[in-house]
Amino acid sequence: MEKGTYTFSKKELFKSLTKNIEEKYSVTVHLANIKGKRWSFIAGNDVKNGLYNFKKFKINNDLGIIIFKWDKLKEGQRDGIIAKYKDSLDDSDFSIPLNVDKIIDFLESKDTKSLFDRADRIRRKYFSNQVHIRAIIEFSNYCKKDCLYCGLRKSNKKLYRYRFTFDEIYNIAKQINSFGYKTIVLQSGEDDYYNTDKLCKLISRIKKDTDCAITLSIGEKTFDEYKKLKEAGVDRYLLKFETSDQNLFKKLKPDSNYENRLECVEILRELDYQVGSGNIIGLPGQTKRILAQDILLMENMDLDMIGMGPFIPHGNTPFKKEKAGTLDLSLKTLAITRILNKIVHIPATTALASIDLHGRQKGLEAGANVIMPNLTPSKYREYYEIYPNKVYIDKTPSQCRKDIEKMIIKTGRIISKDYGHSLKLKI
Ligand code: SAH
Ligand code: SF4
Repeated sequence: MEKGTYTFSKKELFKSLTKNIEEKYSVTVHLANIKGKRWSFIAGNDVKNGLYNFKKFKINNDLGIIIFKWDKLKEGQRDGIIAKYKDSLDDSDFSIPLNVDKIIDFLESKDTKSLFDRADRIRRKYFSNQVHIRAIIEFSNYCKKDCLYCGLRKSNKKLYRYRFTFDEIYNIAKQINSFGYKTIVLQSGEDDYYNTDKLCKLISRIKKDTDCAITLSIGEKTFDEYKKLKEAGVDRYLLKFETSDQNLFKKLKPDSNYENRLECVEILRELDYQVGSGNIIGLPGQTKRILAQDILLMENMDLDMIGMGPFIPHGNTPFKKEKAGTLDLSLKTLAITRILNKIVHIPATTALASIDLHGRQKGLEAGANVIMPNLTPSKYREYYEIYPNKVYIDKTPSQCRKDIEKMIIKTGRIISKDYGHSLKLKI
């Protein structure tokens, strides 16, 4: 499949959908290609009788369905059937190659509703109304790196630094599992205090005593380190490439190397981790073209999870006077990414919630299917200041959970009870 192209066999989709509908309702449905006023046959079973009892429906400018024996359908069934065909077959905007220019058009478009609706339909098709919840523990805010955008950067001398002991992490993990969470995300700055062998022991202990999937997000490591951690039981790893533009990357992450970061993601895949990567939206120096390239790179990487959030300036970084990424651009990026990555887990991130009171909810409505509540104990949470104004800083973990549950129910969804592993494992 050509990368950056949203394609699937419409004929196959049509056939599988039609089989059920024809059996259930005793109608016959044809798929047609529309050119001007002409509708030409693409697929469908022979019409035995009722040839003149039909109705035509446009799916988009090129495609239509014709339903024969239309009168057999009750009033209440008709809209539902047409909606099903539209949901499955209407990919008109994306049936052309989605190159950088086309993505820029979408990023600049004013018609956000149809973009978000389309992303939401795709999300619903693959994830139904299930929202996966991943609990984050930010166990250390020490970092040896100096990323220009991040409040944990080593040059930020004003930050109070903390790190949890291994026992503390273990106890919190157990507690989180007892709350019903099925995924624990352990995140930190790049902190060598936690050497790999000790981390492996901790991971094995957590895996043995809890019923949880474990995700790590602790930065760049070597092949051997990633291998040991996988063998100890880590299921998933998040390592964002942050920006696909090599020059910008060099400026923003002076002590990292672009190729190495992408190589780390490759290694993680090779080691059979479920892998998440992604970018920051609205970084200083990021153009729409770079953002569009980020979106194409995310698709090319064939990821299990994609994390994207708006840039938020931090007062103790060189970017303190820069503008934050906007909600509009973040939601559009999210929606396009969902359209291009149908079965990937995409969170409505904390950063999104930090720039807009209803950011998480809006994210869920524009293609996201995951929420990652912060379960770092309250007394440390304010010091894990990657960016300021993180939401829920003043709330206890159980308050956070209740608020998030309420919000999820408000969007008509339910909290998934399973681990939320990659759907790609099932294919
Ligand atoms: N140290 C690890 C994990 C912790 S940082 C790593 O860098 O991979 C987690 C994420 O926070 C980063 O991937 C980055 O995308 C995000 N981040 C850092 N500073 C940010 C800021 N100012 N605004 C928005 N996101 C930021
Ligand atoms: Fe450290 Fe990660 Fe922040 Fe960079 S983004 S300074 S590696 S915590």
